[in-house]
Amino acid sequence: MTIDTCNFEGKKVIVRVDFNVPLDENGKITDDTRIRGALPTLKKILADGGSLIIMSHMGKPKGKVNPKFSLGQITEAVGEHLGVTVQFAPDCAKAAEAAAALKPGEVLLLENLRFYPEEEGKPVGIDKADPAYEEAKNAMKASQKEFAKTLASYADIYVNDAFGTAHRKHASTAVIADSFDADHKMLGYLMEKEVQAVDNILSNIKRPFTAIMGGSKVSTKIGIIENLMDKVDNLILCGGMTYTFAKAQGGHVGLSICEDDKLDLALDIIAKAKAKGVKLVLGVDCIAADSFSNEANTQVVPSGEIPEGWEGLDAGPETRKLFADAIEGAKTILWNGPAGVFEFDNFTGGSRAIADAIAKATAEGAFSLIGGGDSVACINKFGMADQVSYISTGGGALLEAIEGKILPGIAAIKG
Ligand code: AMP
Repeated sequence: MTIDTCNFEGKKVIVRVDFNVPLDENGKITDDTRIRGALPTLKKILADGGSLIIMSHMGKPKGKVNPKFSLGQITEAVGEHLGVTVQFAPDCAKAAEAAAALKPGEVLLLENLRFYPEEEGKPVGIDKADPAYEEAKNAMKASQKEFAKTLASYADIYVNDAFGTAHRKHASTAVIADSFDADHKMLGYLMEKEVQAVDNILSNIKRPFTAIMGGSKVSTKIGIIENLMDKVDNLILCGGMTYTFAKAQGGHVGLSICEDDKLDLALDIIAKAKAKGVKLVLGVDCIAADSFSNEANTQVVPSGEIPEGWEGLDAGPETRKLFADAIEGAKTILWNGPAGVFEFDNFTGGSRAIADAIAKATAEGAFSLIGGGDSVACINKFGMADQVSYISTGGGALLEAIEGKILPGIAAIKG
């Protein structure tokens, strides 16, 4: 069953969304992207004549009630987006009556699932080294099942539209699905789009395929780099990891961010790319700064010739040309991680060169996927979100999916 083909008329539908939105100190939403992301699914269910039970987590309350993370703060805003009054259930595990009373077109928002440790299913207050840990873990798994059953009992149909938590085997993201047969559980529209986008990158690839991996460290990206190595034609490695590669090849990197214990790994990646015929693009020059600050003095130097006391904070002009060349003409593009410290306005040039090249290739028909945290912030900073094909809402979930891992939230529905 799919969200599009299902008729929700007269049905009670429990939907896992990601309403983990940022709030200011007055509890006002500062970025409602995640709420807007779930609207197509929620509105389709209401338009069909179903009633909605919406569930989500917010923040990390670690299994305890904490008003700072109460979803009660966003009930009104959710109602405004949906155009209906939203009721609030102040205890997600005691909402049976409120759910049963819902009429078609009515909406109930459950309190933060993570106020219960059962949601994440990890035992609290006991150290992993404690001999009693295993027992506590098994007891928690059993109560997680019960918690998931309670949530499931509120509804006829389960929909998962929370891609951001799809890599977690939590009560509401995966375990709950066991209570519904294949005709009564499905992915929401947002999830479907995310799955399709990942498929375009991993299976349904149009060539040439250029992946751009940036950010601070090679160690956090190695799983993805290895999985992509079998798929891409061009691989740009940029950002802070540039200097681990430069040092590994005998360069001097001054104070640049560098993982000294990953030099062999860097050489291994260079060798693998060669063996697999992947064109690896590494920074040849950089903007070096005399302090980690937007106001620092700068000079353009080769990436492996950074003077003592200086650090590389952005890609240099020659490197930007290499990036643009590797992106030009690509038909599939993945970008994860900025090419420099883009948070400082004076060090956005490398990332902007990438964004410009992606926008151009996209206008010429490429499929471009941007995701995994900072590159999304980067493309938003440049106001170019509408010039790429797809911006993922998933951080860790997207990265795990690209690493080739099966996401529990998707497996629980698709099998
Ligand atoms: P990640 O979370 O690994 O994708 O890393 C993103 C972070 O990498 C951003 O906050 C950037 O400021 C940072 N970054 C990118 N290039 C550099 C660099 N050359 N030196 C230090 N940090 C960098």
